[in-house]
Amino acid sequence: MNEKLSILIELQGIDFKIDNANKCIESINNEIDLLKNVIKDKRDNVENLKKEITKNNVSKKSKEMEVSAVEERIKKHNMELNSVKTNDAYKALVVEIENDKKLKTGIEDELLKMMEDDEKQAANINSIQLELSKSEKEFAGKKTSFENDLKKHREDIAGFEEERKVKLDKLPQGIASKYENIRKNKKGAAVVPIEKTNCGGCHRNLPIHIVDEVQKDKEIITCNYCLRILYQKKADPVAG
Ligand SMILES: [Zn+2]
Repeated sequence: MNEKLSILIELQGIDFKIDNANKCIESINNEIDLLKNVIKDKRDNVENLKKEITKNNVSKKSKEMEVSAVEERIKKHNMELNSVKTNDAYKALVVEIENDKKLKTGIEDELLKMMEDDEKQAANINSIQLELSKSEKEFAGKKTSFENDLKKHREDIAGFEEERKVKLDKLPQGIASKYENIRKNKKGAAVVPIEKTNCGGCHRNLPIHIVDEVQKDKEIITCNYCLRILYQKKADPVAG
């Protein structure tokens, strides 16, 4: 294989390692984001439930004040019973007292229901807080290893970048920038083997003169469809 092609293939090998390291970094960052989101959701959840309890407390207060007002009224009407002059007025007061008693029972039932809800909410908050601290512990435990892995991949990439620079410097400017352009425009391989008479990148059938040129292995030949750089794979040495 001609030297330029060999360098291109080595360069591509380094770039694949860079791609891989970047993929690892991305997946670690995704995992970090995922854990952070889980924690944030649980924190928000607890905050919202606490706000609800505070809101409930306000309406509980106002219900309690209503009960006191009704009780006051009942007390007042009970005292008035002693001083009414007519039977009708007496009956009317009794009816009012009965109505207020029903009203009071109704409000007290609502209060009871609200207190039960509060208890449920408090239990809810407790269990979410337990989950939250579990998630926080999990994240704290993994954080160091995430950071170490990220650091290692970044250092690897810095090393690979140095290596690729050395390779690029060995190539003529035109070929180097051709390679860089293909890498930029196509995801994945920029230098591909021909497969029989097809391009190993876009898999289209190549004109015979291109296949010939590739087999001569003198120049850098590109696929006339996808512009990837082509090479002829060496046949595996046959054992024996
Ligand atoms: Zn092609």
